[in-house]
Formats: sequence, C-alpha cells, structure tokens
Amino acid sequence: MNVKDLKAVEILDRITDGFFALDKEWNFTYINKRAQELLFRSRKNLINKNIWKEFPEAVGLAFYDNYHLSASQQIPVTFDAYFPPLLTWFSVSTYPSEEGLTVFFQDVTMKKEQELKNEQHYQSLFAQHPDAVFSFDLEGRYLSVNKGMEELLGYTKEEFLTLSYTPLVKEDSLEETNHYFQKAVNGMTQHYETKAIHKDGHVIDVSVTNIPIVINKEIVGVYGIAKDITMQKQSEEMLIRSEKLSVVGELSASIAHEIRNPLTSLKGFLQLMQSSSENVSIYLEIMSDEISRIEEITGELLLLAKPQAHDFKKESIERITEHAMVLLHSQALINNVSLIPNFKKTSLVYCVANQIKQVIINIVKNAIESMPNGGDISIILAENEDKVQIIVKDQGCGIPKRFLSEVGLPFYTTKEKGTGLGMMTTLRIVETHGGTVHINSEEGKGTTVEIQLPIKGPA
Ligand code: ADP
Ligand code: MG
Repeated sequence: MNVKDLKAVEILDRITDGFFALDKEWNFTYINKRAQELLFRSRKNLINKNIWKEFPEAVGLAFYDNYHLSASQQIPVTFDAYFPPLLTWFSVSTYPSEEGLTVFFQDVTMKKEQELKNEQHYQSLFAQHPDAVFSFDLEGRYLSVNKGMEELLGYTKEEFLTLSYTPLVKEDSLEETNHYFQKAVNGMTQHYETKAIHKDGHVIDVSVTNIPIVINKEIVGVYGIAKDITMQKQSEEMLIRSEKLSVVGELSASIAHEIRNPLTSLKGFLQLMQSSSENVSIYLEIMSDEISRIEEITGELLLLAKPQAHDFKKESIERITEHAMVLLHSQALINNVSLIPNFKKTSLVYCVANQIKQVIINIVKNAIESMPNGGDISIILAENEDKVQIIVKDQGCGIPKRFLSEVGLPFYTTKEKGTGLGMMTTLRIVETHGGTVHINSEEGKGTTVEIQLPIKGPA
C-alpha cells in the first residue's frame, strides 16, 4: 500500500481504528488521526521516529514480541495487550509488507474490563461455592480447588496442586471413578457416587459431577463439583437394614406360629400320657407326626440361607435329577404315580447341587400330591441357548387362576398337612441361581412347572 497516496490517506484518517505504518527500521512512516488520539501523540511528533524509542515501555511487552514475530515471519498477527502508561487495553492486528509493518489497533479497555468483571463473577462462584469445586487437567491432576474442597478432604490448596485424584479415591471405587472421569474427558458430563479418602484416613461418600472444560471448542480439562453424602448414605443403609429386619420379623412370627401348633399338641399328648394308664402307642404315632412336621419346617427354612459363592460348582443336572427321583421313588409308588424321565443332553450348570436337588424334590412332590388317584409325571431336561430347563408336568388337580399368585408365599398351602414353604424355597433358590420359575396350570387338568437355570450361574 502506498500511504503517500492522498486518497488513501483520507480514507485511513476516517477509519475508526488506529492505524500506523512502520518501516524496516521501526520508524513511523504514517499515523492516522485515530492513532494520534489513542496514543496521545501528534503525527509530527512521531513521524520518522523509532517506535521503541518513543514507546520504551512497550519493549518487553506483547507489542514488541508480536511486531517482531509478524515482521520476521512475514505473517499477520492479532493479539490483545495492556499498555500500562496509557491504562489501556489494545486489540492489535499487524500486517507485514514490503516496506515494513502496518498496524491496526483499537481501544478495547471497556470490553476487557467487562470481561474481567464477568470472570470475577465466575471466580467468586467458584471460590464461594459451599460445595467442593475443583478443576483437573486431562490427566486428572488438580489445577484449582476452592475452600469447600479443602474442607471436604483436609488437604490445602498447595497440596492439591501436587496431586491427581487417583490416591484420593478409595481403591475399590477407583476403576469406576476412572471410567466416569474418562467419559467427562470425552465431552460427556457425568454424575456419580464414589468413596474418597480424607487426609486423616477416614472414608467419605461423595456425590460427584464432572463437567468437561471446553475452550475454543476443545476439551482442555474437567471441572468437578463434589458433595459429602456420608450421612445420607448411612441413613439409607439404616433404612434398608430396618426393612430387612421387618421382613425377618414377619417371617419369624409366622414360623413361630407354625412351630407352636405342633409343639402345643405334643405337650398335650405328653400330659395325657402322664395321667393315663391305657395304651399310649396311638399318641406316640401322632407325636411322631408332629415332630416330623417341625423337622420339615426347620429343614425348609435352613435352605433359605443364601449359598456362598464357593458353594457353586459345575454340576450335571441329569445326575442331580436322578438323585432326586431315587428319593421320590417310594412316595410315587405308594400314590400309584409313574415318574417318566425325558432327558435331552444338557451342559454342566454352575449351581449348588443340594439346592437344585431340593427344588426338584419340592416340585415333583407337589406334582405327586396333586394326583391322589395316581397318574404320570414327565420330568423333562432340555437346553436352550445358555439355559438348562427342568420341566415337571403332572396330570393332577391343577391350581385355580385366582390362587396362582399365592403359590410361593410363605405358608400358603391348600393341604391339610402342607407346610406352604416348598414353593417359597424353590423360588428363592432359583432366584439366587439367576434363573426363573414359570407355572402353567389348568384346573382339573394338570400343572407344568418350568425352571430355567443359566448355565453360567448367577450373573
Ligand atoms: P405345600 O406343598 O406344603 O402345600 P408348596 O409351597 O409346595 O406348599 O405349595 C403351595 C401350594 O401350591 C400347594 O398347597 C398347592 O395348593 C399349590 N401347588 C403347588 N404345586 C402344585 C401342583 N403341581 N398342582 C397343584 N397345586 C400345586
Ligand atoms: Mg410342597
């Protein structure tokens, strides 16, 4: 651009940006009107003078570095910088040319002050927030923490700045926490709960929010907000525990009731026997029946205890079913019932053999008891994808639709001598094996009970 051209000079004088041109020796060759106003210097005063001599304060500031960069690399450069002698923020663009460097600039002090004010607004949101607020780099190292964070974990700000979150998370929660942090690094805000370790060693339950920090469309770090929820967690746990207790309470009330009945009758017969001289063998028979009943009830309830992980082994369902059938053989014979096996080849199932055997006994026993006049019971084993099926089909009395939902409730029985515990334990055991129980029944026709057990065991 030839700045000596009059037309051009007029235009340059009218533009609202400050503008000046420098030659290769950093001397002013042109200054427009606005530049004179912005720099508080006249044209005459500056023309042919060296910029670094006239504005020595600019040496060592961004102006000096950027002008040299623009001139030596022959590239335009744009930057904002503060010029202390004039108490002014300038937004500057430089353009290299054959003759030297041309510079456009604006006073952006007002805008900058507003920006700084906004930043201070955010800063105080950060600093004064009652929750713990902090920021990380992409590797999870602390870049800043507020007072709330110092209070939450007991470290000082200086200590945090030498740390990453890794040693501050309880070991068994770390993998999960890493997972959430990584998602935040990938741009997704995360809410989660984890366990943090206070400087003095005690563990705190915290609810955490991780938010990606995005600057110029690029994720440069992660913000965190954390809240101490230890108290809340404790009261939640207490609630769960008290719920469990109330279930146990209800169950033990019914069990006590069930066991007290036979005990009462046992006691009565004993008293009768003490006071009578006649033959007591008839009482003995009833007493023995009642004792068996107590035995049966307590036996069923013992099976309710949850098996330990080490009780699970790879077992053949075919072998287990055969065992159960041997035990049921005499009862079937007495009732004129035939047990008809139909075993397809099945994989070994990860299960507790004794419990599965009890399940089969319970179901086949019910089937036998549903056929007082005898009949056939099919016992089918099959496999379907990743599950083994145990199907027991009877030709008995069936279950009326309206009672289907009762089957499996503790002590629900329609039998004079029933315990009403068989189906409950069955459901419980299958559930702890990760399987399902389906009952299909038609009144007067028969019942089919289908059990599906995942081959891999409970998930
Ligand atoms: P119990 O056998 O001691 O009565 P269960 O829990 O084993 O207790 O069974 C509960 C009730 O479910 C039985 O009393 C019966 O009414 C019904 N039931 C279970 N299985 C069958 C079946 N195969 N056919 C008909 N009714 C059944
Ligand atoms: Mg039963």
